[in-house]
Amino acid sequence: MTADIIDGKAFAAGLRNKVAGHVARLVADHGITPGLAVVLVGDDPASDVYVRSKGRMTKAAGMLSVEHRLPADTTQDDLLALVARLNADRAIHGILVQLPLPKGIDEARVLATILPAKDVDGFHISNVGLLAVGQRAMVPCTPLGCILMLREHLGDLSGLDAVVIGRSNIVGKPMAQLLLGENCTVTLAHSRTRDLAGVVRRADIVVAAVGRPCMVTADWIKPGATVIDVGINRTDAGLVGDVDFAGVAAVAGAITPVPGGVGPMTIACLLANTVTACCRANGLPEPM
Ligand code: NDP
Repeated sequence: MTADIIDGKAFAAGLRNKVAGHVARLVADHGITPGLAVVLVGDDPASDVYVRSKGRMTKAAGMLSVEHRLPADTTQDDLLALVARLNADRAIHGILVQLPLPKGIDEARVLATILPAKDVDGFHISNVGLLAVGQRAMVPCTPLGCILMLREHLGDLSGLDAVVIGRSNIVGKPMAQLLLGENCTVTLAHSRTRDLAGVVRRADIVVAAVGRPCMVTADWIKPGATVIDVGINRTDAGLVGDVDFAGVAAVAGAITPVPGGVGPMTIACLLANTVTACCRANGLPEPM
């Protein structure tokens, strides 16, 4: 068997188009342009690349993109003051503070200062809580992208066995909540899980979010399972995921590649979340 390749790049392009269409209608019918502010502190090269492409795609979707680049020695008070200004700015509907922040700045404090309604990363404790109780939340972009691809590929996920490997606050935990919301039977595995291979082998859906190159191998996979690879690992052989793509693709029913799978969906979902935040702020129908 050879797995279907879930083309995240094409799927993300489709979502960005849909978002751009919604933005065009907001501008034409209501005179409202959704605005996203991205704050980057310091000069981490990987963060710089992300921030640039976020800005480019935000503009390409017809939205307002504002970048705040602050020096690495910015004080926590200055950063909190900027977040407070953005909270109060009516032209800004989404605020994203690029992580990681330099040492000496309390990340949790900064995230807690962003207005939950403008928290397009979905990391504010209010949004985490809303997602946990199944209420309307801002959902973190990476797991949101994964669930959209799963829904598109599998349709109804009800009753399926899902195993998420990795329990981080930004990927693993919200992913498990979203799968539960789709009525999957969810197992959240991590570094202390016993017999991880045996646990994964029961799954109809496997989401790998670990950060270990090619850890998930073909013998862990139930034939026909759908495998979502969130991992991004830079190795001598280039960018690879947490899943041994060639081996697993011979057993799975469907699989996301790395690169070109989950990655492109993350920024597309950031744009979608910003439009959602804008619509909620103005009492208008949401894009998704
Ligand atoms: P974290 O390092 O925060 O979390 C990793 C998780 O994996 C932890 O819960 C850890 O368990 C678990 N883990 C580590 N080793 C093992 C093991 N041997 N067996 C089972 N579980 C293990 O990572 P993130 O969630 O932030 O990111 C995960 C991966 O996803 C990374 O490669 C990252 O680059 C990528 N990523 C990709 C994004 C995208 O847009 N495509 C966005 C965000 C992340 P424990 O809790 O017990 O320590």
